[in-house]
Amino acid sequence: MKTCLVVDDSKVIRKVARHILESLAFRVEEAADGREALDACAAQAPDLVLLDWNMPVMSGMDFLRALGLSSVSPRPKIVFCTTENGHAHIRAALDAGADEYVMKPFDRETLAGKLQIVGLG
Ligand SMILES: [Mg+2]
Repeated sequence: MKTCLVVDDSKVIRKVARHILESLAFRVEEAADGREALDACAAQAPDLVLLDWNMPVMSGMDFLRALGLSSVSPRPKIVFCTTENGHAHIRAALDAGADEYVMKPFDRETLAGKLQIVGLG
């Protein structure tokens, strides 16, 4: 079974994402910020990280940078979630190591399409 770590400081968004991902046959773990996510990845790397951008403690961007410097292996695919569709913003995230992005709020169909793109569909 494929695994996904849902990283978001919003409990409601984590719940919605979990529901969608479980319907797509993922086993889901949750983290409330980048720090928790990094610890979870170090303990056991998931196949996929669904990553919020704005979070307390450690942001999505800081998580990407820290993951890049870590020895976490194998590398999870990373889809980041954003409310900003600015080109520079998305470019920065992809440059920092994200594989794809999805606009919030996302639905099942949109997320499934992104998972196809990163090879986890
Ligand atoms: Mg947030």
